[in-house]
Amino acid sequence: MANGISGRTKICGIFGYPVEHTFSPALHNAAFAAAGLDYVYVPFKVEPRCLAAAVESLRALDLAGVNVTIPHKEAVLPLLDELSDEAKMIGAVNTIINRSGRLYGDNTDGKGYLNALKEAGFNPAGKTVLFLGAGGAARAVAVQLAMAGAEKINFANRTGKRAVELASFVAGCTGIPVGLIPWPEQAGGKLPGGALVESDLVVQATSLGMSPNVNETVPLPFECFRPGQVASDLVYNPVETLFLKKAGQAGADTVSGLGMLLHQGALAFELWTGTAAPLEVMRAALKKELTGKNK
Ligand code: NAP
Repeated sequence: MANGISGRTKICGIFGYPVEHTFSPALHNAAFAAAGLDYVYVPFKVEPRCLAAAVESLRALDLAGVNVTIPHKEAVLPLLDELSDEAKMIGAVNTIINRSGRLYGDNTDGKGYLNALKEAGFNPAGKTVLFLGAGGAARAVAVQLAMAGAEKINFANRTGKRAVELASFVAGCTGIPVGLIPWPEQAGGKLPGGALVESDLVVQATSLGMSPNVNETVPLPFECFRPGQVASDLVYNPVETLFLKKAGQAGADTVSGLGMLLHQGALAFELWTGTAAPLEVMRAALKKELTGKNK
């Protein structure tokens, strides 16, 4: 607990720029307290020009580990001693573990997303997936879905060039068949070829609908969603985005971005502490933060 800091307290944190918006201190400090662990989690505002020094400080200050967020997830790779298979494949790190001075980089974003899907009862093996968006979060999740045995992944993105790049990246590193779908606004408002209908899982990976722009969403023919299909949003604030609301109204099962945020944090917690994460405490802490921030 932050109030009970002693000479033995282990320190974790997050490197980001900006970092003020992060929910991770609330998530992890609640978890450390619930698990009775003498750890504390603090935000570190790390400018890009200071990243190498900040990473070296893990060793110098004997920090237990940190999360890494925008804009450092890719730049941090060459500064680490060892990388997990996921981090290598995705080309991004969100968690560093300090193993007696050796810095190990992992990526729990994709695995956290898979755990959130699992919690919702969805197994991606053999399934067709449609991504709306082609940024960093889409890359981590798409690589992980391919590694989990998805049959095919289609990509649609406002900037078509980024969809092409992500599709060829995912196909190149995992061997999964990929497809490109024109962005709805550039295809007369409709996704062609029944792309929506034939997808078992539709992943909303753009920042559309994120607070405060809660009335925005991808311009989709939402009436095409159907029961048996899963609509998943990576945006977690608000928990129920307009995308999830509309897809749910048409009969799809919905999975909020809160699950990915929770599970990526739970995996990082376990990597740092070697202790099972108190999931329900962490979920409640996140919900409290989200409610507070939206007041
Ligand atoms: P990013 O790399 O900046 O990518 C942003 C994506 O959103 C791009 O595909 C971009 O399209 C698209 N986009 C932005 N504004 C748009 C608009 N007005 N119309 C259409 N498309 C638009 O960001 P990211 O890191 O991938 O994050 C994407 C979202 O995922 C964010 O909301 C973030 O909060 C969320 N996220 C959630 C978790 C979690 O744990 N749940 C983890 C990471 C990220 P262009 O290429 O055309 O610009």
